[in-house]
Formats: sequence, C-alpha cells, structure tokens
Amino acid sequence: MKAQHVVVVGGGLIGLSTAYALLREGHRVTIIDRDRLGGGAATGNAGELTPQQVAPLASSNTAKDIINGVFTRSSYLSIEPLQLPRLALFGLGFLRASGAKRAAKGAAALAQFSGGILPALQRMAADGIDISGGGDGYLMTSSVEPDLQAAHAAYRTRADRGWGEGPGPILRGTQLAEHEPALAGGVTGGFMLPGEFSLDPVTFVASLIAHITANGAEIREGLTAERLGDGASIVCRAIDGTSTTISGDRLVLAAGAWTTPILRKSSIRSAAVVAGKGYSFTVPVERMPNTLVHSMDRHCVAIPMHGRLRIVGMMEFGSPPERLNRQKLEVLTRAASSVIAGADWQNLSEEWVGARPMTADGMPLLGAIPNRPEVLVAAGHNMHGLSLGPVTGEVVADLIAGGIPPPAGGRSICARLRSGGRPHKFIFPALR
Ligand SMILES: Cc1cc2nc3c(=O)[nH]c(=O)nc-3n(C[C@H](O)[C@H](O)[C@H](O)COP(=O)(O)OP(=O)(O)OC[C@H]3O[C@@H](n4cnc5c(N)ncnc54)[C@H](O)[C@@H]3O)c2cc1C
Repeated sequence: MKAQHVVVVGGGLIGLSTAYALLREGHRVTIIDRDRLGGGAATGNAGELTPQQVAPLASSNTAKDIINGVFTRSSYLSIEPLQLPRLALFGLGFLRASGAKRAAKGAAALAQFSGGILPALQRMAADGIDISGGGDGYLMTSSVEPDLQAAHAAYRTRADRGWGEGPGPILRGTQLAEHEPALAGGVTGGFMLPGEFSLDPVTFVASLIAHITANGAEIREGLTAERLGDGASIVCRAIDGTSTTISGDRLVLAAGAWTTPILRKSSIRSAAVVAGKGYSFTVPVERMPNTLVHSMDRHCVAIPMHGRLRIVGMMEFGSPPERLNRQKLEVLTRAASSVIAGADWQNLSEEWVGARPMTADGMPLLGAIPNRPEVLVAAGHNMHGLSLGPVTGEVVADLIAGGIPPPAGGRSICARLRSGGRPHKFIFPALR
C-alpha cells in the first residue's frame, strides 16, 4: 500500500494510539492539538484495560441513577439541572439505550473489541511503549449482597461468551480481609477479575509521545481545530488568533469530548459526543492495596500506580469539561474512604478533572464520514478510551489501508463486527 500523509486531530489516547499505529504502517503523520499532546482525559484516568468491563454505561441500573442524578448532589452520577435542555436529546437517547434488550445489544457490540484489547497493548509493549505501573487483576467489591452476586454471575456469563476471563470465587468476611488487608472494615464482599490489567497512564502517554516523536511524527501543538476544510484538511486557529489550514491525504478526527462542535461547524450530522466529567486524586496510604480495588457499590476505583494510590470516580454531566467542581471531589473522597483503610484523606494531591467522551448508547464513532472517505472519525470511547485506544489505532490504520483489520482472538475484528455488530451512523462503516 502507498504511504499516505495522515493528519490526526487530537493528541489524546485515541489520537496518540492512532498516530502510533499509522507510523508503524509506514505512513507520514501530522498530529495537532489545541493544547499539548496528552491533554484531555489522557493521563488522570484510572489506567484500566478491561476486556471484561467494556460495555455501555446505559443499563437499567444507570437509568435510575441518571434520574436521581438530577436531584441528588451527592450521587456519583450528576446532571446540572440548568444544562438539562442542552442535554435533553442525549438523555433521551441514554434512557432508550438503557432498556434490557438494547443494553444487551450494546454490550455485545462493544465486547467485539474484548479479545483485541490486551493483544494490541502487548504489540505496543513489544515496540518499547511503557505499560508499567499497574498490573494484572482487579478486586471487585460490593457490600450489597444481591448486587455482588449479580455482578459475579454477569462476569461469569461474559467469560462463557469469550468476553474476558471469568471471575474468581466470591470472598466474604475474614477471607476477604485476609485477601486484601487495605480494605475498610465495612466492605463485606468481593471477587477477583484476574484477566483485567492496569497501567500508569502518565508514563504510558509520555512514552507514546516520545515514540511517535522519535518515529518522525510532525507535532503541531497550540492549534485548535475549528472545522473540516476541503478534502482531508482541517481549518485551525492558532494561539495568536491566526487561521491555518492543515492538509493531508487522509484526516482522522479524534478530539474526544470536543469532537461534536467540529463536526457541527462542518455541517456533518452525527450522534453527539458529550462530556461526562470524572475526577481523580492521589492519597497517601499506610498500606498499598495488593491490586486495583474497584468498588461497585461506592462507584470508585483505587489504583496502585507506581507506588502511589490514585482514587478515581464520578460522572458529571453539565458544567464546562475543564472546570473542577470541588464538591464532586468531596463526594468521591467520602466514597473512597469507605473502601480503603488507613489513608490520609486530608492530604490529597494531583487533584484532576477530565472529560469522558460519552455517547448516549455507549458506542464510539469509528469510521469514515459518509461520502467523505478521506475523513475518518475516531471518538466517543466513553469510559473505555484507554482500553480501546491501542485496538482503535489498529482499526483506523486498517481502514486507511482499505484492508481487513488485524486478527484479534483468532478472527479479524472486521469479520466479528460483520457477524455481530449493529449499524450506527458512523460506527463500523463496513457494516453499512
Ligand atoms: C476520571 C476518568 C477515569 C477514566 N478511566 C479510564 C480507564 O481506567 N480506562 C479507560 O479505558 N478509560 C478511562 N477513562 C476514559 C478515557 O480517559 C477516555 O475515553 C479517553 O481519554 C478518550 O480518548 P480521546 O483521545 O478520545 O480523548 P482525550 O484523551 O480527552 O483527548 C482529546 C484530545 O483532543 C484535544 N482537542 C480537543 N479539542 C480540540 C480541537 N478543537 N483541536 C485540536 N485538538 C483538540 C485535547 O486537547 C485532547 O488532547 C477515564 C476517564 C476519566 C475522566
């Protein structure tokens, strides 16, 4: 295949992974970012790569939570009432996707990536990308017995369908406390998900940037993409206010939670990508958990990351993506303090807010824009942009090559999409 010049808009997890995959295939890459590479939600996240857990947020449980979220400020999921008119269509789409049948279909569609998540990451590691800082296996906890059993059964079922490794046995009481001494006393049940992996996104992203730089990517920071130009070009505004157009043979739009305004200004209709804000911070602990602890009932995650403990959680719809809402950090701190013992909750550092690129049905926008094959969109990866980043990069590189994406779990991703995926405006264009 002839090498092409590909312009990648957005230097977050998806843009960087795409640039990496394209360079590996011998293409020339220009990557632009309004700020600096590795901005957006790339580095403050939980570092989770989760073949078992890639699923849409919308489900019958979260449908209730989203309604509560309008009225309850202390909920992990919140919606700013003033923003309700703007979010109305997204909310309706979310509620629609929450029905049992649609949620199951959505989970099946996303699970097609499950077998490709860790192999794609391992290919990066073999190429020298740093995937250190975390490790294998998560401890999933809940003190609500019926929920614990339901989650265990659901992960068992996913494993039976080939969507990740099955859970370990349910641990309770002293057995659980002996397994994980860092847990707070009130946590009564849990089980291991041994096939999940975590890494430190700070070192991962730094290493990806160093790799693409060393491999010749042209990096254009401080350029805000405003709208698509003709062909594979993008019209950008520089920091000094001047307008610049960057052109290539192909263009990949990967601006995360900021993708929709660029599409709208280009008169392209698509499912909306909306910012679902999450928070994280680092807390000093007397004793580091042995593995990542994912509390299903408290809706927070505690991640040992290169010797520090990062706490991550919350889903806030409404205020500007970049604005840190201190009240949400306090809700997260309270939740985490009921999960992890012996932490100094008065002494937090690395406080961070980031915007998840959410779509109502949880599906990413991935593929060429209808009638504009030279422009692809790779955005809307919801809570899973790190899990799906490396495999998305490979899919985009293969879409650009016009071929069949690389094998994942023995069959090509494209073949699996054809057999099980469902059509969506942009997703998986091979299906249309
Ligand atoms: C608290 C939290 C925890 C998370 N934990 C996990 C996890 O454990 N595992 C997981 O898989 N996912 C996780 N995620 C989700 C993951 O971070 C996102 O899905 C992922 O960052 C999306 O990648 P992206 O490249 O689409 O967007 P981003 O990573 O946000 O990158 C978008 C980039 O585009 C740039 N940009 C924006 N607008 C423009 C413009 N107009 N012109 C040029 N550049 C622009 C931004 O500066 C940014 O660099 C988490 C997210 C949050 C908030």
